[in-house]
Amino acid sequence: MDYNKSKAFKNVCLKLAIVYFLSDVVLFKACYALTPSLVLLVSFDGFRWDYLNRGLTPTFNNLAHQGSKANYTINAFITKTFPNHYTLVTGLYEESHGLTGNHMYDPILNKTFGLQNLEPKWWSQNGQEPVWITNQRQGGHSAVLDFPGMDVPFQGMFPEYEYIKYTESIPFNDRSDLAVALLANGSVNFVALYFSEPDKAGHMYGPFSKEMNETLGICDKTLEYLLDRLEAEDILDKVNIILTADHGMTPVSINKTIYAMDYLNGTAYPYFTVENNPILGIWPNKSEHLDPLYEAMQKAEHVKVYKKEEIPEQYHYKNNVRVPPIVVVADEGWMVVGSRDFKTHYGGVKGMHGYNNSLLSMHPMFIVHGPAFKKGAVSKPFNSVDVYPLMCHLLGIKPRPNNGTLDTVKYLLSVHSTPPSNEEDGSDGRQHSQYFSVGIAFAVVIALLAIVLLTGMCLQQRSYRKEELTYHTLNDGLDTEDEEVFEDGDQMLPNTII
Ligand code: ZN
Ligand code: ZN
Repeated sequence: MDYNKSKAFKNVCLKLAIVYFLSDVVLFKACYALTPSLVLLVSFDGFRWDYLNRGLTPTFNNLAHQGSKANYTINAFITKTFPNHYTLVTGLYEESHGLTGNHMYDPILNKTFGLQNLEPKWWSQNGQEPVWITNQRQGGHSAVLDFPGMDVPFQGMFPEYEYIKYTESIPFNDRSDLAVALLANGSVNFVALYFSEPDKAGHMYGPFSKEMNETLGICDKTLEYLLDRLEAEDILDKVNIILTADHGMTPVSINKTIYAMDYLNGTAYPYFTVENNPILGIWPNKSEHLDPLYEAMQKAEHVKVYKKEEIPEQYHYKNNVRVPPIVVVADEGWMVVGSRDFKTHYGGVKGMHGYNNSLLSMHPMFIVHGPAFKKGAVSKPFNSVDVYPLMCHLLGIKPRPNNGTLDTVKYLLSVHSTPPSNEEDGSDGRQHSQYFSVGIAFAVVIALLAIVLLTGMCLQQRSYRKEELTYHTLNDGLDTEDEEVFEDGDQMLPNTII
């Protein structure tokens, strides 16, 4: 090949590359928010991340393969059900959203919180609200099916569609039927869907029991049914699914229990306890009693005892009036409760969660699937507070102030859904969709230009076809830098346990 022909060919390639780059930039800008998409948040309570490695969950694993996953997420301390579900839908750590346990004492309200408390004063301590409410405020429509907090009014607003009260009595497949119907008929653009397993089996039989393995099979069938229904309605590839959980599970035994009364009652200083076993809150009746109670509790083994101000920063668990003056955290596999009455309530328990959120056993799984997500990507673990800004991005709504970031999760997004880095503090995401039509029109013009250039190139190509091309388009390597990719691999219980 002579030099002039080679040079001409390179010029054509360069022009094409520029056209390709420009069109990609235009589409990127126009489409990063796309139109607000359908989002289905699914929580399988207590689905520990490594349950996926047992070969018992083909539907989960296949969905992760067809979509993407993180090996796990780092959930919030304390790793209990209500606080962590609320973290998922607010993007706030527990000290910020104020649900510091399944059970709490609020010294300002001078009241104690339990799972049946639905008053906004508990759930909206500083004006917080879950994503389903924010979605509705910004023009969307939400359905919340059995998700914790669904029946709490936020400034008088409930989800547009909800499923009775937070209850375990609704068959799993019925919940899926309703979720899919509402998405398919256009009634809602957001659904939060909750399943109470495998948490119950984890508590009753332990995370490594044959009963747990059987329950994982049931969970897999539950997901299979949900996906089949989405496919039957022809929306499986239109819905952005976020499949996760609130926490993991670790084996426990009643024989490995610390009873706080054994250490505190001898002090003669009055106190009361708030149990979120394996976390125990101690409230001295008078502030001057704190030190002797603290020192007495320090004598216990298999627990860590913190004054409120000593709680490690990484727990994000000290800046709230509902955090007790003394917090006792059991070591993994141990339990800590106030009194010996515990045994009558929890004697048969074989599994527990609530521990330090740096423990691998406490981490939930995380799988995504849908048009906004890459296929087959595996992200490094990220904080569960980051799920909230991800959902807001997908819904095209402006997030409320939160502790999360999109930076950790954008690796999972396909290129045309990847947000600009400053989107979090930008204006209402919905306004971006107005540029979509303009972007598409411009892209069509550029595509026509590309066809003309391609035709010209083809005429030249006959004499060049034997040349070895090592040309790289300008977008080669985009979105792959700085990304760390991890390999795959690695008797009825009382409600108060959840
Ligand atoms: Zn749970
Ligand atoms: Zn539980």
